[in-house]
Amino acid sequence: MAQKKIPLRMCIACREMKEKKGLLRIVRNGAGEVSLDFKGKAQGRGAYVCDNADCIKKCVKKKLLNKIFSCEIPNGVYAYIEKDYAEAIRKRSEKISEQNGEGKPDGE
Ligand SMILES: [Zn+2]
Repeated sequence: MAQKKIPLRMCIACREMKEKKGLLRIVRNGAGEVSLDFKGKAQGRGAYVCDNADCIKKCVKKKLLNKIFSCEIPNGVYAYIEKDYAEAIRKRSEKISEQNGEGKPDGE
């Protein structure tokens, strides 16, 4: 049996090929709006970036999306992406600490 192929995508910041689950999708829709697509289902042209703060930062700092989408992406959009990502990370860590708190005896 042939091995199951895992589709890889390239991070626009570090240019590493990775599985989709380790990446975040950034999408530009028909109206030209750019946003983080956490579910990977938004319509439009997509680019992938690692799901880590370093690659997000690099993408924002170097304005990599301008090249990817061949247009000028306003600074506000980059700021929004960075903020949105920071927010997602915060939510994620909240979730983890909630899970860790469960069933843990927290006496005294
Ligand atoms: Zn990366």
